[in-house]
Amino acid sequence: MIDPLPILQSTFGFPGFRGVQESVVSRVLAGENTLAVMPTGAGKSLCYQLPAVVLEGTCVVVSPLIALMHDQLRAATAIGIRAATLTSVDTDQMETIARFRRGELDLLYVAPERASGGAFRDLLSQAKLALFAIDEAHCVSEWGHDFRPDYRLLRPLLDAFPHVPRLALTATADAHTRADILEQLGIPHDGMIVAGFDRPNIQYRISPKDNVTRQIADLVAEQPGPGIVYVQSRAGTEKLAEALAKTGRKVRAYHAGLDPAVRARNQADFVASEDMIICATVAFGMGIDKPDVRFVAHAGLPKSIEGYYQETGRAGRDGDPSIAHLFWGADDFAKARQRIGEVELHRQAGERTRLTALGALVETSGCRRRILLKHFGDDAPANCGNCDNCLNPPAAIDATEVARKFLSA
Ligand code: ADP
Ligand code: MG
Repeated sequence: MIDPLPILQSTFGFPGFRGVQESVVSRVLAGENTLAVMPTGAGKSLCYQLPAVVLEGTCVVVSPLIALMHDQLRAATAIGIRAATLTSVDTDQMETIARFRRGELDLLYVAPERASGGAFRDLLSQAKLALFAIDEAHCVSEWGHDFRPDYRLLRPLLDAFPHVPRLALTATADAHTRADILEQLGIPHDGMIVAGFDRPNIQYRISPKDNVTRQIADLVAEQPGPGIVYVQSRAGTEKLAEALAKTGRKVRAYHAGLDPAVRARNQADFVASEDMIICATVAFGMGIDKPDVRFVAHAGLPKSIEGYYQETGRAGRDGDPSIAHLFWGADDFAKARQRIGEVELHRQAGERTRLTALGALVETSGCRRRILLKHFGDDAPANCGNCDNCLNPPAAIDATEVARKFLSA
């Protein structure tokens, strides 16, 4: 088998593998079907990009978001990897198809809608394939927090090329979702590699909402570095951005309703800045590579523990001390329960389980990190020493009662 290390160093410029990357890459190079469960920021992309360069043929990457694909394309092209995207907004699709046929692509990114179609299957049979990479693989599971029906249609494509190895990647899989991914994508149970989920440099804090604008202003005053504040509504992001701007900090808003040019500029400004705050909906963050985010705040309950972990995981990727502060209220639980009442019946039980798990996290007077890590099946000490409850063991707080009341109602 080819030694990937020289390419890791020359093409990617990294001195060595990080964590489980090496095990994942070895499995892929050995042609074994694999599910890699690795936290956000752990370096999942490398696990298929490196084999894509090393192996003969094209690595087909299924990815759920066009913006994500284009970010990856830019980064890959910048280091000399031969990559292309096939999405509805690409004007060079004919050229990409021709390059693929000539065997000139290491990486070909496609959306699941495209990947699951018959025309795409025909195309793939016209050149050599190295690997199928299914990014954000939790989208295949109805149990997962981000179900995308088109991911379900990938299996026939994979099965049409039985000799091409599959690599599924996700950051956010609880035990149930993992089992589902293995089953749906035809990966053996011993083909799963799970990296540790702990992010020891992130200090977790969770507080009941009181005056959330003031609470976030206090956090912002404490933290001069870049920060992300997740807000539930589009209007809310703009309102909060305005309020925080009054504290003298540089602030931008980000949500899917903004003019695309403004949205792109706000994102670029934030990524380039050493002290900016961005008030955003959860539309912000996927695929954004900013290592020095010093805090992530939630001005309201996130959708699930998976979402919370993924969003807070954008803090402190450089390993320096960072804060994740969640502010929640009883009204958040009421709204969440109402939302659950509106989803398809067969999904309600899963959603309810997710809300209960979230309730346990905000309600606990014990270690936050322990609950978080247990949720993902990681071992955890009783006391992490770097969350609000471990640092300041609470006396019986009213919030506990409030949460219990609203969770059991
Ligand atoms: P994920 O998809 O798991 O969230 P990414 O693939 O976006 O993570 O990688 C996160 C960051 O880690 C990127 O900046 C990437 O360049 C960096 N990275 C990946 N592998 C390594 C490595 N072996 N050594 C150093 N940095 C790495
Ligand atoms: Mg990724």
